Parts: sequence; structure tokens; C-alpha cells
Amino acid sequence: MPSTTWVHGFDRLDEVEAGLDGGWDSVRGLLGGKGANLAEMTRLGIPVPPGFTVTTRACLSYLDGDGRLPDGLWSQVLHALHAIEDRLDKRFGDPAAPLLVSCRSGAKFSMPGMMDTVLNLGLNDETAKGLVALTGDEHFVFDSYRRLIQMFGTVVLGLRDELFENVLSDARHVRGVTSDADLSADELRTVVARFRDLAAGFPTDPAEQLRMAIEAVFSSWNGRRAVDYRNAAGIAHDLGTAVNIQAMVFGNLGEHSATGVCMTRSGATGLPGLEGDFLVNAQGEDVVSGTRATRPIEALAQVMPTAYAELQAMAAKLEARYHEMQDIEFTVEDGRLWLLQTRDGKRTAQAAVRIAVDLANEGLIGRADAVRRVTPSQVDFFLHPQLAVAARQQAADEGRLIATGLNVSPGAAVGVAAFDPDVAQRLAGDGRQVILVRPETKPDDVHGMLAAEGILTTRGGRTSHAALVARQFGKPAVVGVGALEVDLVGHRATMGELVIEEGDWLSLDGSTGEVYAGRLDTFVPDISDGWLATLLGWADDLRTLGVRANADYPADARRARDYGAEGIGLCRTEHMFFQSERLPVMQRMIMSDSVTERRDALAELEPLQRDDFLGLFRAMDGLPVIIRLVDPPLHEFLPTFEELSKRITDAKIRLSAAGSLDEVDDLLGRLRRDEDLLRQVRALHESNPMLGLRGVRLAIRHPEILQMQARAIFAAACDAAEEGGGPRPEVMIPLTSDAGELIRARQVIDSEAAAVFADRGITVDYLVGTMVETPRAALTADKLAEHADFFSVGSNDLTQTTYALSRDDAETSFLIDYLRTGVYDHDPFSSLDPDGVGLLIDRAIAAARTREDDFEVGVCGEHGGDPASIAWCHAHGLTYVSCSPFRVPVARLAAAQAALATAS
Ligand code: ADP
Ligand code: MG
Ligand code: MG
Repeated sequence: MPSTTWVHGFDRLDEVEAGLDGGWDSVRGLLGGKGANLAEMTRLGIPVPPGFTVTTRACLSYLDGDGRLPDGLWSQVLHALHAIEDRLDKRFGDPAAPLLVSCRSGAKFSMPGMMDTVLNLGLNDETAKGLVALTGDEHFVFDSYRRLIQMFGTVVLGLRDELFENVLSDARHVRGVTSDADLSADELRTVVARFRDLAAGFPTDPAEQLRMAIEAVFSSWNGRRAVDYRNAAGIAHDLGTAVNIQAMVFGNLGEHSATGVCMTRSGATGLPGLEGDFLVNAQGEDVVSGTRATRPIEALAQVMPTAYAELQAMAAKLEARYHEMQDIEFTVEDGRLWLLQTRDGKRTAQAAVRIAVDLANEGLIGRADAVRRVTPSQVDFFLHPQLAVAARQQAADEGRLIATGLNVSPGAAVGVAAFDPDVAQRLAGDGRQVILVRPETKPDDVHGMLAAEGILTTRGGRTSHAALVARQFGKPAVVGVGALEVDLVGHRATMGELVIEEGDWLSLDGSTGEVYAGRLDTFVPDISDGWLATLLGWADDLRTLGVRANADYPADARRARDYGAEGIGLCRTEHMFFQSERLPVMQRMIMSDSVTERRDALAELEPLQRDDFLGLFRAMDGLPVIIRLVDPPLHEFLPTFEELSKRITDAKIRLSAAGSLDEVDDLLGRLRRDEDLLRQVRALHESNPMLGLRGVRLAIRHPEILQMQARAIFAAACDAAEEGGGPRPEVMIPLTSDAGELIRARQVIDSEAAAVFADRGITVDYLVGTMVETPRAALTADKLAEHADFFSVGSNDLTQTTYALSRDDAETSFLIDYLRTGVYDHDPFSSLDPDGVGLLIDRAIAAARTREDDFEVGVCGEHGGDPASIAWCHAHGLTYVSCSPFRVPVARLAAAQAALATAS
């Protein structure tokens, strides 16, 4: 029976592929990302030091088998090692021509810094002596040797790195230098001797070194750091890690040697061209560890022009193969370039957009790929204030990047620290920007969270109370910043030496999880031109779902159109009545005892409404504008009962102390008005206003309101048409639950339209439709469709009425708990509930489409801006989604991605 193959040479990729189903993904699964890419680079003819990969399966078998290497593994390792020896004409452990190797971990998904690597395996006193004889470079040999013992000691033997660093710093101190590279060969020899004493378990037999290193990498898969990282990053625990054994190349061989890391494009901005750092005469981690000052990669062009040109050529080759920006590790050994790793590079949202567009323009990927690669949250990034790049860089250079936590709610927030929600609210009331800092948050803290610019907690994860509330209200937030210790009694936070007092400035980035001390500059990215606009243009070509905006004012409508909205899906006319100069007229209208009085007040409001509508038609010239008739219960336009009672009591007290007759007159007048208002507030009081006299019910009870609104809409449409515009009014009736309501309201609207058109001598095409926001509307949609030209699903209210819960009340009481404890698996107000609400929407769509193939059915709740809900809307055949102007770009991308997902 053939035994299992646990080991694959970097030059055997074709064989590995032939033995696996599932393409590149399963190659990565078996060899790990690092191993698969090392083999791929080898196949592409890129210079990679020879080596082999011990598979993830071997790791899993080792972990299963109580720490015993699986049968056959060790002999396969030795066999593969011999192949390298033959190729390089060196022998592992042979002082005459010693081969040194590295032992590198590499799982399927990159887990940066989570597992460890040992370099320079194969050195002991004898081979070191041999290597000195061969290279004549004692400094290099003992530098390599001390690194081996240090890495072996920490990674394999589990010793604290501090022990080794103390020896080094003593040596530097005695010599009076700041860099280990400046220690003399003799000093390094002494360091090695002291390291040997520290790492008593360090084996001198190279084979033993290798075996122990492999086992240590295997075991590190279940180490605390790795498990925590996988939990945080959502990586499965049963994948295992591969181990790569690779011949060493030396960047520490003198002035013609170097080591570095670079990206093929800027990870910050996406600018094409290499971006990275390197060090002359150094090895591996020196560049990333920050112990020596690195040089920017462009400087390599001066120091080692040939290697630099080669690196550029390799970068292009790798991008052509992976169709992605790459993050590369390289080493120059005595003028010769070697690549040691490549992987897809990490990037900011800005860079992600630019890189996707550039790669498509360069022909490396298709436009659809570009659209697929950018996430909705990366587009969302462009719509929030951000920390300025230069400010971020400067703060980082000055050591003011104090911690990083979980990035749970995007955007930048800058403010003074407040450690108490009441303090936060008070400071915000004084006009200060505040960051609320808490160990964690509770429902009692919500007022402080709302008052704050941003939220920072030291505990909690992605589904913590703080994270959920922050996302709900669009507050930037970073949670789980474990490095910071909050002292609630002392009103301060500490991290080691650092103390943050109440009132100290903090800046946080909810997109990256970074927390800075100090007040960093912010900016709002411009989306109107450049790469994002191009990408969204491509998205528009790919999507079939329409995107409209919810906009109540002409300025919002214009912004929405700039962001790419194809019309207005919802204009809430009542918002126009809330404006301060109009509210008293509105209140007079509500207070009127007679229809004539009411008509007078309405006549005052009519020209104002008409102006608003004309503004909307102008902003959306040629595009549909859905205007919803007045919807909320009338009491919302009046002061609250409590407020009025207080005002009346105050007036009475002042009346008793009034000095002049004029004052008495004035106070009495106000008192009477307030008493009238109070009577009306009492009369309009409903136990469940959400289910009361509102929406179409109001229009039927007070047809004069409906008439006024209809006249204003059609007169404005005629005005727009006379100006030469193309107004497309769609009049929408809210809260319908019976066809009878629709019939009556429609009669009024149609007859007002006819009257206006006759008067003006022009006709404008218009539609009359209804919202579907009660279960009964959805269930009787076939009857509604007979009288409606379009449907618009009011998914906020439909969710409320389907669940029979009031959102405003639920959010401050049980909803957050339901989400935290998993009673609900998602928030039905952020993401459309497909099981219940979705079923009702399906029903409405089916009824509408039976009547007419392209019957317009849109969604105008907040779900219209949520990518998951947008995907649902696409798949279920809705005509469009309508969302807030700021979500329009996100919706355009999400709609395109939904189209791509269902097409493939
Ligand atoms: P990490 O995943 O932490 O980056 P790596 O396995 O990539 O760990 O290795 C750490 C460092 O050592 C990197 O800079 C890498 O380029 C370098 N390195 C690894 N193997 C070799 C080798 N055979 N020759 C030279 N440098 C190496
Ligand atoms: Mg690496
Ligand atoms: Mg509604």
C-alpha cells in the first residue's frame, strides 16, 4: 500500500494539482497560502530558494496523534532535504559545505504574526566554523548563529524573548552602539555563548533542530495567540498549518546584501509602483521588527539597481499571475535577488477602489471582477469623515497610535475623552466634541453614546452592546481595546505609562480600529470624480435593479442625483410642514373648528408645498419623483402634553406676578392659545398612534388636506413642464390596508389633477400608487393593483406591522438584548426579514405582475441601503430600491454585485 505523501517539493506543483479536486483553493488548503505561492513562483520561473512543504494534513494528523509525527513523514522530510542538498551541492550539518534552512509556518489564510518562523537551522559550533572558513565572514556567521538560537529559544523552547534581548542590549551598551549590526564578530561570538547558556535545550544536531522546529510549528496552531486570532478573524479551527522548509539565502552577507518587503502598489492610496522598505546587510524580521531604521524601496534603485529592476519585473509577473496587488518579501544575497513570499496585499478602502479600477483598465481583470472586489463597506468609507492620511502618518510617527481594537462601526471620530455618559452629554451640550470611553456599554449609557462623536470600549466584541448601538446610529466605534485600562472612579484611562484624563483629545478610526492620542484632522472624501465614480459607472452597467433616493428637500434630491440616484423613491411631505415658519400654520390647520377655517390655513401652506415640489422636479428633471401624502398622526405636529402643561403652569405663575397691563394681556393671550392646544392634544390622543388616524385614513377623514397636496403637486408639475422640464410625478398613498381606501383617495387625486390641467391648459403624465406597509395590503395586493399604478413597499412599517412591534420603543428596551442574546439572529430593521416580511413582499409582487409584467414595485425603507436586503430585492424582482442619498453609491454597488451573483 502506498504511504501518504506528507511532503511536496516547491517544484512539484503540477503533481499536487493533479492529485486534488477543487483547484487553487484546495492547493492552498493543502500547502497553506505561503507554500502554495512559493510553489507557484517556482513554476513561474521566479527565483525562489529551493524547498518543500509539509502539508496541513500532516499537521492535523500530528495534532490528532498526541504529538507524534505521522508515519513516513520524517523519512519524506529527509528525502526532500537530500534533493535540496544535491541541487545546491551543500549538506545539512556538514561543516565542509553547510546547508542552512528556514522552517516557516503557513496556514491557508494568512495569520500575520500569529505563528513563527525559525531561520538558519543547521548551525552549530562545527558548521559555524566551517561556514567561517568558507565565507571568511565571521561577523555574518555569528550574527546568523545568534539569530538561530534566539528564534529557536523563543519559538521552539518557549523562552521569553526578553532574556535574549537583554544580552544583546548589554553587548550594545558595552560597545556603545545602537544597532546589533554594529557589534563586532568577537562580540557576536560572546553573545552566542551566552545565548547557548540561556537556551540549554538547544540541540546541536541539525536534524534534531529541524524535527523540533517542525513540531513546534504544528503545535503553534493550537497556541493561544493563533486560536484568539482565528476567533477574531472568523477562520476555521480545523484547517491546520503547513510547514515550509527552505534553503536560506542571506541578506546579512555584507554591503551587497539586503532584505525587504514591498507591495506592488501603494496599500494606502493604490498608486501603481513598488512601495515598501528594505535594509542593507540584514535578515528577515529586521525590517518589520522596527529595530533598525529602514529605507524606502525607491532607494534600492540607487544602491542595487539591477536587483531593483528585477524586483519590478517580478512584481509585474506576479500581478499578471494573481490578478491582484501583491505583498512581497525579498532578499538580495550578494547582488542576487530572491523572492521569499508573495500574497495578496492588504489595503485601505481608497486603495481597494483605485486598484480594482486600475487593474481592469490595465486589462488584468474584467470590469465585473473589479466591481466584485470592492465591498459595500469600502464604498461606505467614502461617505464618512475620515482621518487625514498625513495626520494619521504623523501621529503614528510620533508614537501617538496608542492602540488598536475591533473596527465595528466605520468613520472617524475626534473628540475629548469622557468616561461617563452624563459627562459626555453635558460636554456635548456645551458644544464640545466627545469620545465616550467605557469598559463596555449598557442600555443606561445610550444617551451618552448618542451625544458622543464616537465610542471606545475596552471590552466586548463585534456583537457587543456598544457595537450594535454604534452601527444602529451610525457612530464610529472601536471596541475591545484590551490594551487600555479604564478607571471609572478616577475618570481616566491608562495604558502602561500613558494616562488619558477626562478632556484629553482622542481620535479614533472605526474603519480600521485605530485609536490615536490627540486631535487629528479629518476630511470627507470626494466621490464625484476619480476611481470610485468609474467603478460605480461599471456597476450601473451591470445591475438591473434601479436605485432611487429618499429625499424630502431639493438640496437632498440634488445630492442624491450627484450620487447616482435614478429618481426619488420617497419624499415625505410632512417634513416640509415641520419647518419652523410653517409649523404654526400647520397647527392652525389642525386646530380649525370648521372646514372653512381649515381651508384658509391650507391655502397658506399650498404655495409653500408647490415651491418644494417644483424644486424636486427640477432637481430630478426627467426622472420619477414619488411624493407621499401626509402620513403621521396629526398630534406629531403639536407640542407634547407635558410640554404644554408646563408652559401653562409657568404662565399662570408669571401672571400672578405680572407688573403691567400689557404684560397681563400678552400672558393671557399665550395662556389661551396653549389651553386650546392642550384641548386639541387631548382630543387627538390615541393609545396606539402608530395604528391610529394616520396615512390614508387622515386623507379620507380630512379630504381638504389631500386636495391641497394634490393641487400643489400638479401645479408644480405644470410649472416645471412650462419651464421646459420633464416632471414625472408619482403620487403615493400611505398606510393603505383596503382597496376601498385607495379608490376614494384616488378619486380625489384624479379630479384635482383634471382641474389643474384644465385650468393650466397642459397635461402632465402622472401615476398614483400605494405603499404596501401593512400585512393586509400585501395579502390583498391583487385588489389594490386594480386601482394603483405602482406599489412601494414601506419596509420599515411593514416590518413593524408584521412583527407587531414599535421600532422606537423596541430599540430602547428589548431589541438590543434580543440581538445580543441571539433571540433574533439579525435586526429586522437593518436587514429585511426574508422569512416573514419577505413572504408578504413576494405576495405583493406576484399580484402586481399578474396584472402587468413590469408593474413598478420598489422598496423605500432603510433596507434599501442594506447590501443583504438589496441582494434579496434583486433576486425577488423588485423594480428599484430607494435609500438615503448617502447610501445611494453603496446601493449601486450592491445591486451590481447581486446581479453578478445570480448570473454566475
Ligand atoms: P512571517 O509569516 O512572520 O512573515 P516568514 O516565514 O515569512 O514569517 O519569515 C520571516 C522572515 O524570514 C521573512 O522576512 C522572510 O522573508 C524571512 N525568511 C524566511 N525564510 C527565509 C529563507 N529561507 N531565506 C531568507 N530569508 C527567509
Ligand atoms: Mg512572511
Ligand atoms: Mg410608513
